[in-house]
Amino acid sequence: MTRAVIAFGANLGDREATIASAMRELADTQGVTLEAVSPVYETPAIKDSGVDRDAPGYLNGVVIVETGLEPHRLLDVLQAIEAEHGRVRAEHWGDRTLDLDLIDFGGREQFDARLELPHPRAWQRAFVLQPWLDIDPHAVLPGRGSVAELRQAATDEVVRR
Ligand code: AMP
Repeated sequence: MTRAVIAFGANLGDREATIASAMRELADTQGVTLEAVSPVYETPAIKDSGVDRDAPGYLNGVVIVETGLEPHRLLDVLQAIEAEHGRVRAEHWGDRTLDLDLIDFGGREQFDARLELPHPRAWQRAFVLQPWLDIDPHAVLPGRGSVAELRQAATDEVVRR
């Protein structure tokens, strides 16, 4: 079994309901056991150009699971759950009903066309680091160091709900 860290985010539709149902679907997946679900944070949308205050805000958080699945199979599961909730196309590229990212998979570092571990942008995103820290104060991001230290350096805005 491997401990994996998954980040969730939603900025369109009924965000709480979407996240709640995604958590249920994850918990119902064979080979996946939910270990901890973080508090949820309200965060502004971040686009290529930076913070976009015109875009609807996100609810973000992190879930830790134990899994017997290989990382690509776990990514399949995450993408199937995302697809089930649809991706409402909005004016702004990137807005989505549900986003699920694989942040860490048992400390593995690997890279291919479909999957990069750890997630390449997690180290600088407070909306991933803060909720992760809440449920695992001693977390370490492979190749980057302590999540607590990374969190202190991250400047994006997160407000606990
Ligand atoms: P996004 O729409 O921003 O969630 O990006 C999804 C794309 O990123 C998919 O094509 C995935 O195959 C790819 N990807 C690469 N690494 C990861 C990761 N660690 N977690 C989730 N998606 C990933």
